[in-house]
Amino acid sequence: MTDSAVELTRGFKEGKWTAVETTQLFLDRINANESKVHAFLSVDADRALADARKVDEKREAGESLGRLAGIPVAVKDLICTQEWTTTCGSKMLETYRPPYDATVVEKLQAADAILIGKTNLDEFAMGSSTEHSAFGRTHNPWDLERVAGGSSGGAAACVAADMALLSLGTDTGGSIRQPAAFCGVVGLKPTYGRVSRRGLIAFASSLDQIGPLAWTAEDTALLLETIAGHDPADSTSAPREVPSYSDTLNQPLKGLRIGIIEDHFEEGLNHEISQAIQTLIQWLEDAGAIPEPVRLPHSRYGIATYYVVASSEASSNLARYDAAHYGYRTSNEDAAENLEAMYERSRSEALGNEVKRRIMLGTYALSSGYYDAYYLNALKVRRLIRDDFESAFQKVDLLLGPTTPSAAFRAGEKSTDPLSMYLEDIYTVLANLAGVPAVAFPCGQTGEGLPISAQLWGPAFEEGRLLQVVHQFQSHTEWHKKRPSFS
Ligand code: GLN
Repeated sequence: MTDSAVELTRGFKEGKWTAVETTQLFLDRINANESKVHAFLSVDADRALADARKVDEKREAGESLGRLAGIPVAVKDLICTQEWTTTCGSKMLETYRPPYDATVVEKLQAADAILIGKTNLDEFAMGSSTEHSAFGRTHNPWDLERVAGGSSGGAAACVAADMALLSLGTDTGGSIRQPAAFCGVVGLKPTYGRVSRRGLIAFASSLDQIGPLAWTAEDTALLLETIAGHDPADSTSAPREVPSYSDTLNQPLKGLRIGIIEDHFEEGLNHEISQAIQTLIQWLEDAGAIPEPVRLPHSRYGIATYYVVASSEASSNLARYDAAHYGYRTSNEDAAENLEAMYERSRSEALGNEVKRRIMLGTYALSSGYYDAYYLNALKVRRLIRDDFESAFQKVDLLLGPTTPSAAFRAGEKSTDPLSMYLEDIYTVLANLAGVPAVAFPCGQTGEGLPISAQLWGPAFEEGRLLQVVHQFQSHTEWHKKRPSFS
């Protein structure tokens, strides 16, 4: 068949295949490969097929169809779905069925997409490897011994393993882009406010965004167009028109000024990744773009700033899991004695170590006597990082650098060393702190055959420009056509 949503849609229109046939094909692949990859936390074959049947019937009856009609889409299990449990990868919400659908899910449904499953993640999206899921880790389809990245590891792996064509992840500090990098697909974190967060279970509200993952820039554009836009139910969503990202993909790159972030090519970057991005820069220059060196002097404070801000917000957001309103409640009898003991027992039993670590770090940073030294200072540095981007975008149209310091690492390699795990996010947290859009896309492979990814940043609301560059690159190269051979 095809692994492009744009081509699949063409095939539907030409009568080459039906939505039921294609949905069945994806379900067959899930049956064959999911036991090796573990990208999903739930799959509902009957519902998916029933939805596909509806699309086929509508088509036969000549009714108008949405832009994702019949396309199998997976949704990260941090995004509320009324008909499916939404676990956040946590024992705390193992049986939680939200009373409403997230706005992005409503939009997928209105576009006639087929929701094929809910994907695995690090618990409450805290992590960079999906090893912190309470329900088992996701394996990287390129090498099952390696991690798929995180926290949207399932979202990236299900696309890489051809078990869904498109998927929705969330990105607070890199959780779409880093797994996209490790799994060799495209992942885009939109501008803060571009996509509604209603129904996205909060980790760090000033950083969280929902965004698309796919093989191609074309498909990424299609999915972003579908989910973006103002939502009166999310006061942080921007009241701005959504441009047609698909329509500007073919605009020429001639004269586009691309800032190469010099700070990101210094210590700590794997040599093969550096080489691959140099080759990409050469390609961009040949295509008429103008690369020029740029510095983001405060970017080295990114990790420290991010982990204070994100943990502080998390400690506040996760206070709602008190075992009284919803969530896991301990069955330990001692806890029946008093409320405090019930809270403590329930939270101790249901939350994983990484989540507890963040809650403790954040609570500490926000507590009286430390607030100014940690939280307030972090906000000031965040401002400086933002200013770095603003001055860079006065000189250049886009910024380019690596997505990750290394290719996918082995499972277990960093899970006992939180700091080395946090350092994975060194190039990704900046876009969240500054609120700007960034896209990760494959641009090479290591000697061991693992995907290498480049990252492009744009000024706020310039997602179109990012996708334009990736599309042009993909139109002339083959990296996005490489597939893992795990099966
Ligand atoms: N890896 C980062 C963290 O652990 C980012 C997570 C995310 O973007 N949700 O916080």
